[in-house]
Amino acid sequence: MTQRTDVVVIGGGQSGLAAGYHLRRLGIEHVILDAQTAPGGAWQHTWDSLRLFSPAEYSSLRGRLMPIQPGEVYPDAAHVVTYLADYEKRYDLPVQHGVWVPAVHRDGTHLRVETGCGDWQARAVVSATGTWTRPFLPAVPGRREFTGRQLHTVQYTNPADFAGQRVIVVGGGNSGAQIAADLAHAGIDLTWATQCLPRYLADDIDGRALFDHATVRRRALDEGRTDTGGVASLGDIVAVPPVRAARDAGLLASRPMFARLTATGVEWADGTRAEADAVIWCTGFRPALAHFASLRLRGTRGRIATEGTRAADEPRLHLLGYGDWTGPASATLIGVGRPAREAAREIAALLGS
Ligand code: FAD
Repeated sequence: MTQRTDVVVIGGGQSGLAAGYHLRRLGIEHVILDAQTAPGGAWQHTWDSLRLFSPAEYSSLRGRLMPIQPGEVYPDAAHVVTYLADYEKRYDLPVQHGVWVPAVHRDGTHLRVETGCGDWQARAVVSATGTWTRPFLPAVPGRREFTGRQLHTVQYTNPADFAGQRVIVVGGGNSGAQIAADLAHAGIDLTWATQCLPRYLADDIDGRALFDHATVRRRALDEGRTDTGGVASLGDIVAVPPVRAARDAGLLASRPMFARLTATGVEWADGTRAEADAVIWCTGFRPALAHFASLRLRGTRGRIATEGTRAADEPRLHLLGYGDWTGPASATLIGVGRPAREAAREIAALLGS
């Protein structure tokens, strides 16, 4: 059976909810299809000690401030899940959980959104599927030879899983630093391998400053001035309290990236080796966009070419929350509001015409 609506939003994490909020305000009929059986998107699956890198009041979607978490300046992931579940309910957003979208097709003047429980026909689609379901693993020689355990950030829960083991953490971003600090504080035998020397942001800089930086950049771009550069120009690692404490205690010395894995560990280019029981790859993500394969849209590095949030080659499709390429700071709670509003306005204009 095929159902009809004006807009299908694919993904019901923070970005999908932001889209729903603005579509609802403009009175646009829509449905939000989300593969997860419960609200919260990727925040339901993070490691136990993860903390936001901004205080609650700087981590809010439009319309409703995130409440302060008692006793915590930087809220944990469970707090974010509760906030998103409340947001979904408060604005009565039409989220259908447990619905996976394997593909989207062109269907005359409409787009047809395939699901395991019937198709939807829509005049526009917003994709807000995030990156968490597409962990990226670099092609390092010997990865298949290593007989120990290999996991990605998405599979890491807490240090108890690694008691008594030798662990190599790979990656110099926030995930790598936070997981390395988590293991170091627990006394795990840790080697932290990073491509470049870790670049910490100044200790007094957290997500607030990153968002301000993104705002300045957005204004510069809007006004046709020189690009001030993404937040990466400030550094890679927010020195959240556990990372700062581990770094200051000398527990976070990094080593350069190794050249290959062996059966029992890793080996650097100069021939030195480290034995390991587990390697945790904190090496990032790619946008989850496989459902658009049949639309054959232009793009590089796993992305789709966009103008603002709109797909350059398909005016009925908007992409939300994947990173700066879909709007400055759009992959953050506070930053996704503006691109979501712009996408909803463009869709309203499209439907009106
Ligand atoms: P997601 O939360 O991943 O939601 C996407 C939803 O779409 C999921 O429910 C998924 O199951 C569903 N989905 C995917 N594919 C399909 C499909 N084909 N069909 C149906 N459903 C589908 N941001 C901040 O603002 N502050 C922070 O402090 C912060 N810290 C972070 C720390 C880490 C380590 C990471 C990785 C990210 C952090 N972020 C932070 C960034 C950001 O908030 C998250 O990445 C956020 O989860 C992205 O939200 P989203 O809605 O775009 O994607």
